[in-house]
Amino acid sequence: MTDSSDRDPSRRVFVQGTLLAAAAATLSGAACSRKRESAKVAAESPSTPKLGWAIVGLGKFATEQLLPAFQHCQRSRLAAFVSGSPDKAKRLAGRYGVDEKAVYGYETFDKLAQDRSVDVVYVVLPNSMHAEYTQRAFRAGKHVMCEKPMALNEAECSAMIAAGKAAGKRLMIAYRAQFEPHNRAAIELVRAGELGRVKLVIADHCRTIDPKEPADQWRIRRAMSGGGSLVDIGIYSLQAARYIFGEEPTEVSAQLASTPNDPRFMEVEESAVFSLRFPNGGLANCSSSYGTTNVKRYRVIGEKGYADLDPATSYEGNVLRVAKDGKPEPREVPTTNQFAAEIDHLSECIQLGKEPRTPGEEGLRDVRIMQAIYASAREGKAVKLA
Ligand code: NDP
Repeated sequence: MTDSSDRDPSRRVFVQGTLLAAAAATLSGAACSRKRESAKVAAESPSTPKLGWAIVGLGKFATEQLLPAFQHCQRSRLAAFVSGSPDKAKRLAGRYGVDEKAVYGYETFDKLAQDRSVDVVYVVLPNSMHAEYTQRAFRAGKHVMCEKPMALNEAECSAMIAAGKAAGKRLMIAYRAQFEPHNRAAIELVRAGELGRVKLVIADHCRTIDPKEPADQWRIRRAMSGGGSLVDIGIYSLQAARYIFGEEPTEVSAQLASTPNDPRFMEVEESAVFSLRFPNGGLANCSSSYGTTNVKRYRVIGEKGYADLDPATSYEGNVLRVAKDGKPEPREVPTTNQFAAEIDHLSECIQLGKEPRTPGEEGLRDVRIMQAIYASAREGKAVKLA
């Protein structure tokens, strides 16, 4: 999207593991192992240069969480900004040591192809722009990190994956919770059998959406967001159910609701509840809302105990409690910066020739399931997933 509305914020809203199995490396044979070995040596050497990242879209999440996280990165550095607000971008370039010559606009985005300081493009734009800028980044010869939800529909996701393959570059979807230590600990304790067989996951992600906030204005416009609370934060509940069970759901049932006549919910749903059936007898009961107090939690219930993460997916301050014999005990989990871990993971995958833990296919799976959730709510019946 390169029209003038991109550069005019006032008009924008109107225009529009280690625990999940890593995918098999695509290289094979002797050439591949030589390549991997030399990449490994290079990546492990203290003199290995950090990869250069271009951040596309300097909004709330990018400026408040992602830019500061780079100081904690071992393999990644800020190299360029792409923004429709040149003054803001130049100010941030000064603050983060990015060369002013490496500040691009959306209309000059394709010049990144000539910028050899940039290895990876991080797409942090409204959801409707993810597909276009991911594909343009691949055409510019860069690797891509793309924010969640990956895109508006399966066709866009497939086109993004195909563009990455055609370019021979990595695509990762920014599912930070899969790099967050408390979530990692929860996955590990489930895989280690501490709770016995897990039968139920209950996950809720809710907040109040506020159209006075620029970051919330496009979220209530279907053309830019692709949906309401489900695609924005219900996706965390969906992700938790999938990474805790470690398998794919076979069936979904869902209902949506919005407060009648609330102007925020003319185009997108306020609340969603959905249940997921898993192949080995597990069920997940998930929810999301844009009309309540903040909730970011899930509970995992097994034969021998349960684990509570509350909050589960905050930027910081997450808490894990594990209950056996009904007594919940806090579990000490060393904290790390989840954004730095996620960003460095993609750099490491590029340096070592590995597939990211959350590749484009992972984003496509969620988009497909969320489309089935909407279909179930619309049709008033359970929908089977292929
Ligand atoms: P913001 O609205 O704050 O940021 C989006 C930025 O995109 C804008 O600031 C603007 O930056 C740029 N932009 C370009 N064109 C437009 C347009 N037409 N309308 C609006 N903005 C435009 O949103 P967020 O930062 O909250 O979200 C951005 C993405 O990050 C979303 O996909 C969201 O789902 C994801 N996200 C992920 C989170 C996570 O935990 N993983 C948390 C929050 C968001 P500029 O002025 O520089 O051009």
